[in-house]
Amino acid sequence: MKASRAICMVCDMFVSQKTHFKARFKSKTYYFCCDECKHAFTSNPYRYTIS
Ligand SMILES: [Zn+2]
Repeated sequence: MKASRAICMVCDMFVSQKTHFKARFKSKTYYFCCDECKHAFTSNPYRYTIS
């Protein structure tokens, strides 16, 4: 099993899924390294979720 690790969508840093800097978008949960990154994501989620 993989450790509960995620990547901050804003700055590509590894973050723990235990962080409280997280946001739900299109029924997926995204994790962030800091409040600033979370805010950057939530103010324009499409910028970070285009695949
Ligand atoms: Zn970040």
